[in-house]
Amino acid sequence: MSKTLGRLPAFQALDADMITYRGRFAPSPTGPLHLGSLVAAVGSWVRARQRGGVWLVRVEDIDPPREIPGAAAGILKTLSAFGLESDEPVIYQSERADEYRAKFARITPQVYRCWCSRADLDAFGGIHPAACVAPPDPSRAPAWRVRVPNAPIGFVDQTFGPQAQNLRDEVGDFVVLRTEGWFAYQLAVVVDDDAQHITEVVRGADLLDSTPRQIYLQHLLGYSTPAYLHLPIVLGEDGRKLSKQDRARPVDRSDPLPALRSALAFLGIQTGGATSRIDDSLRAAIDQFDASRLLAVPRES
Ligand code: GLU
Repeated sequence: MSKTLGRLPAFQALDADMITYRGRFAPSPTGPLHLGSLVAAVGSWVRARQRGGVWLVRVEDIDPPREIPGAAAGILKTLSAFGLESDEPVIYQSERADEYRAKFARITPQVYRCWCSRADLDAFGGIHPAACVAPPDPSRAPAWRVRVPNAPIGFVDQTFGPQAQNLRDEVGDFVVLRTEGWFAYQLAVVVDDDAQHITEVVRGADLLDSTPRQIYLQHLLGYSTPAYLHLPIVLGEDGRKLSKQDRARPVDRSDPLPALRSALAFLGIQTGGATSRIDDSLRAAIDQFDASRLLAVPRES
């Protein structure tokens, strides 16, 4: 027990970053914002506002072949039209390669070069085994994979409850630096969530099964693990997840209310139909959003 009764000893000094809720929305600029990404944007924003916290936007432009010129600027403009503005300057992953390289250097004992093709991995059900199965090919750059443990990695999702995944059996050693020289999403997202002191990650449930990989990298890098809240996925008429790459219909920033109402209804928030203002709708969201009831919201698809 500390003897400094009535006064906090220095090591317990309160660190504002540790007590302030910090959330983020991290779109990849692979196309315009659609209803599914609007749900993730609004869901993460509402959660931050309910906690009196900070909401950040981070552009995940780390995959040039999949990016659409102008999409990042378009997404930011659309967010603005929906009343969603980053509380701090927007960061761009394309400008952070030095940071990722420095963190990659810290995990070198756990990474190895790999020349495997997708076809090589078919024999293993797509799950990379504990070593590269293709012969080294000095004529082309390798990818770099991180070795994963043979043990379950668990976390409690705020929507979906307890989750566990054995990376060895279900994912395999995964790529952290791609053969083209770009850092992989899994590494970049972990480095940035830590650098931005994110306390809770709110995003679509399509990333639920990436979370154990991210928790593992956090562990290797000595980071703390944020809370996770995954949102149910918005499905298109064909029953598939809406995706920017599949050209899902963009939300209309010149007339944002209908899409905002749809996104809020998806999150279980009633705007009463009468309100014709963005800020009233967002206020209703702050009053009503309840993560514990997300799975019970009636939805058409
Ligand atoms: N950039 C990812 C996407 O647009 C989201 C990543 C995340 O939220 O962790 O799907």
